[in-house]
Amino acid sequence: MKVFVTGGAGYIGSIATEQLLDKGHEVVVFDNLERGHREAVDDRASLIIGDLRNRDETIRALTTEKPDAVMHFAAYALVGESMEHPMMYFRNNVEGACHLVEGMLEASVKKIIFSSTCATYGEPEIVPITESEKQVPANPYGQSKLMFEQVLNWCRQRSGIEPVFLRYFNACGATKKFGEDHDPETHLIPNVLRVALGQAEKVMMFGDDYDTPDGTCIRDYIHIVDLAQAHILALTGDHTGAFNLGNGDGYSVKEVIDVAREITGHEIPSEVAPRRPGDPPRLIAAADKARKVLGWKPQFADLKTIIQYAWDWHQAHPNGYAK
Ligand code: UDP
Repeated sequence: MKVFVTGGAGYIGSIATEQLLDKGHEVVVFDNLERGHREAVDDRASLIIGDLRNRDETIRALTTEKPDAVMHFAAYALVGESMEHPMMYFRNNVEGACHLVEGMLEASVKKIIFSSTCATYGEPEIVPITESEKQVPANPYGQSKLMFEQVLNWCRQRSGIEPVFLRYFNACGATKKFGEDHDPETHLIPNVLRVALGQAEKVMMFGDDYDTPDGTCIRDYIHIVDLAQAHILALTGDHTGAFNLGNGDGYSVKEVIDVAREITGHEIPSEVAPRRPGDPPRLIAAADKARKVLGWKPQFADLKTIIQYAWDWHQAHPNGYAK
């Protein structure tokens, strides 16, 4: 299939692009390179530098390329930033994404695999979280992703668009070539590994007074290659609707740091800092639906394996994609 990948120069999009190409699909990446990296775009893909907020540019790219399907990764994705600058999130993640749908309608593209998030559930009542949990986002990032799910649900009813919502838990890990390089980096695992690389003195733990066994927040960490595989399964089958993507195992911030100490052999000093606004205490996936319906089988579920892949990439790319 010819797949139009928005955000293909970003962390998750770059690896989905690589995996699609490995499976013989053709990929057109559409990315504004604001937060992504040209070096993260696989050589076998073609790259259109464009911004979803630019309606004409977006529609033109789709009507020119006429892809068979869209994988939509391009978005702002930081909880903390979204609390400070909500409009940035709605403009890019909702309005920009609507331009994408307009382009799909003009180019008669029906299928869209959308990078959604467990942040659409907010502070869930029941954990592990199933797809039928109430969606009450606790921050503008989660809200913006939920809003676009709702847009797509209406487009499904009114325009015959076939959306798949993949609600990710915490994406991490790397392949040999592609990995996580954000500036500033806010995510836990790369921040922990920066300390092991000698690029930071210590890692800050945001809050140790949550209602969890060790007081730090619990997340479900999922290897990026497993995430990418779920996208390809969602693309090639006759699927629609929402799927949670996580391993079903929760690890606290302290546990992640301990595993990273073991893998890197570095003592990784840590310090407790105030809570980060918008952080729910526990997010763990019930991903049985993805396993059953998509036939998804995560291959790298163990946290040690995930951190080892991330560590290998960061050691080989200590400055990320920068030369
Ligand atoms: N976190 C932390 N220190 C950091 C980065 C993150 O304690 O330097 C915590 C954060 O508050 C959250 C968890 O680690 O409880 C995972 O955060 P991350 O930003 O990696 O992903 P999120 O769950 O926000 O998508």
